Amino acid sequence: MVRFSEVPQMNEISKTRQCSHMISSQKLQNSSENAEQSMKAYQKKIRRNRKKHFFELFQNEPEFRWKQIEQAIFKKKYYGWKDITTLPKHITAELEKKIPWMSIEPVKIFESERKDTYKAILKTENGEEFESVLMKNKRDQWSICVSSQIGCAMGCRFCATGKIGLKQNLTSDEIMDQYRFWNTFLLKHPNLPQRISNVVFMGMGEPLANYENVKTTIQTWLNVTDLGNTRITVSTVGLLPILDQLLKDPQWPDVKLAISLHSADSKTRQEIVPTSMQQFLPKLEEWAKKYLQKHGNKRHHLTFEYVMLRDVNDTLKNAILLANFARSIDNVKINLIPYNFIDDAPYQKSTNESINRFVRVLEKNGITVTVRKTMGDDIAAACGQLIQKKYP
Ligand code: SAH
Ligand code: SF4
Repeated sequence: MVRFSEVPQMNEISKTRQCSHMISSQKLQNSSENAEQSMKAYQKKIRRNRKKHFFELFQNEPEFRWKQIEQAIFKKKYYGWKDITTLPKHITAELEKKIPWMSIEPVKIFESERKDTYKAILKTENGEEFESVLMKNKRDQWSICVSSQIGCAMGCRFCATGKIGLKQNLTSDEIMDQYRFWNTFLLKHPNLPQRISNVVFMGMGEPLANYENVKTTIQTWLNVTDLGNTRITVSTVGLLPILDQLLKDPQWPDVKLAISLHSADSKTRQEIVPTSMQQFLPKLEEWAKKYLQKHGNKRHHLTFEYVMLRDVNDTLKNAILLANFARSIDNVKINLIPYNFIDDAPYQKSTNESINRFVRVLEKNGITVTVRKTMGDDIAAACGQLIQKKYP
C-alpha cells in the first residue's frame, strides 16, 4: 500500500494554500478589475527566461553583471533579490518588481517513512505541476533526482511518466531551480545533512529530448555550484540522433551518461520501449564504442540501466545476451533496477534469485554490476513512479 506523510513546518506550502484560498473567496468588484485579473492570468502563462528578461530590462548592463547575479542566486542563505547586496539599488528594485526569484514553487512535499527520501510537487509559472526528489546517499549527503520535462513522449510501458504523454519541456530555469529549491529546503531543516553532492536526471522526462535546456542547466551548475562533472548523471532512453549530436558538440558538458537499455534482445526492447527501432542495438554498440574512445580512460563514464521485469527480460538467456552485448562494447557498467510497481502496467518485480543470477552471470563475464537501492517507494518517489494523478 502506498502511504504518504506530509512534511510538517513547510512555510512555502502554507503560503501557497493561503494564496489560492484568498483568490477563490474574493469577489471581483467591477469589469476593470476583471480585465486586470485576466491580464495577470495571461502574463502568468508566459515563462520568461531569467537571463533574457534581465537583459531586456537592462540593455546597457555588461555580461559580467548577469554572471554576478547567477553566482548569487545559487548562494545558500540568499532568499530574495534584496539579499544580493553587491548589486546597485536600482537594479535590485527592478528585479524585485519584475523577475520572480524562483521559477518554480512548491505545492506539496512528502517525506518517506525512513526519512531518507523527500518528494516535492512543484509548479511552474504557467501552473503546470511536476515532481523532484531528494534522496540520501551513501556519503550521508544528498542526491537530487531532477525532472527535465513534464510527462514524457517516449511511452515506455513500465514507466508512470510515460503513461501521461508529454505536457511540456521544462525551461533551463525550471530545471536548475530544482537544485536551488532543495538547497533552501535543507536550510529550513537544519537537523538534516546539508550538502547536495550529486544530481541525476532520472525524474520526469527524457533529458535528451530537451537538449538545449538540459545543457544550459548543467553548464550553469558546473559554473556556480560545487557539483563536479562526475557528480552529474544524465539518464536517457537512448535517442540515437541526439547521442550522435552530443558526441560532436564541444559545448556538451563532460558528465556521466546512463543509457536505459533494458534488454539486449531487439524484440523485447521494442516491446517495452516503443521508441526503440530494430537496428537500435547494433547502432548503440557503434555509438558507445565511439563515446568510450572519446572519453578514453575515464572508467565507468557510461552505464547501462536495466529495469528487471519478471519473465520479460530477467531469464538466464537475457543475462547471457546482456553480458555479450556489454562485452562487445567493453568498459561499460551495468546498473540493475528493481521494478517499482506502477498502475496499469502488466509487470512484476523480478525475484531476488533472478536478480542474483543476473549479477552472477555479468560478474563472471568481468562486467561491473550494481543493483540500485529502491528509495521512496512508500511516497511514489522511486524511479518510474513520478506522476501527478496519484496524490492523496
Ligand atoms: N527518460 C530517462 C530518464 C528518466 S527515467 C530514461 O528513461 O532514462 C529514469 C530511470 O528510471 C530509467 O532508467 C527508467 O528506465 C527507469 N524506470 C522507469 N520506470 C521504472 C519503474 N517502474 N521501475 C523502475 N525503474 C523505472
Ligand atoms: Fe520517458 Fe524515461 Fe519514462 Fe521512458 S522511462 S517514458 S524515456 S521518463
